Amino acid sequence: METILTIENLSKQYGRIQALKNVSFSIQKGHVYGILGPNGSGKSTTLGIVLNVVNETAGSYKWFDGKMQTHEALKKVGAIIERPNFYPYMTAEENLKLVCKIKSINYSKIEEKLNLVGLTERKDSKFSTFSLGMKQRLAIASALLNDPEILILDEPTNGLDPQGIHQIRDIIKEIASQGTTILLASHLLDEVEKVCSHVVVLRKGEILYSGSVDAMSANEGFFEISSNDNLVL
Ligand code: ADP
Ligand code: MG
Repeated sequence: METILTIENLSKQYGRIQALKNVSFSIQKGHVYGILGPNGSGKSTTLGIVLNVVNETAGSYKWFDGKMQTHEALKKVGAIIERPNFYPYMTAEENLKLVCKIKSINYSKIEEKLNLVGLTERKDSKFSTFSLGMKQRLAIASALLNDPEILILDEPTNGLDPQGIHQIRDIIKEIASQGTTILLASHLLDEVEKVCSHVVVLRKGEILYSGSVDAMSANEGFFEISSNDNLVL
């Protein structure tokens, strides 16, 4: 099986705050891999390190079995780790054309990706008229334009209404079914259970569990689930 990402004994210190402590896990091709943990548990820090925007304090990671340099490997990684940000007065399609231009991608991909995220009918609408859910879906289309090996999403359903949440989860499942590996950070246990095949559970920067979601769900004794489905660890 092809390994997409291997993380070994990763630690991160922000001043006196230890955000990650000896975190190790690996993602195989085809996994829908969750990083589950409450706010402050180190999910975004983990993503920032493997995307080379945050420096690790100790430990290491390698993409694609270390077959290429990180900057080459990252060309095969699609990531949405911030709130979607596009030109407000340009249409959805114009924004994607701009992304294609910047990344030297053929425009032919735009139609397919807009269709995948259900925005074909809104392609001529300005970004500023989009709901948060539509903005998030446009960001997903944009990240997929170059058909990455893996799509990384950091809390993609935060702030969305139930319908928007449902749409994003269905789109993630559809992308996974097309063979794209997924890495999804979430503080929602039900989101990980609905979408992911594998999971690493973090608490205060340390691994509580890693393995299949089925095995985790069978043994939920160590999770306390609050009424709004937030994870309390
Ligand atoms: P999560 O994404 O799970 O909410 P983060 O990785 O954002 O967790 O944060 C992990 C810990 O590191 C938290 O205690 C957070 O306050 C701290 N932290 C994150 N980024 C920074 C930063 N740039 N400077 C200082 N502390 C940070
Ligand atoms: Mg975060």
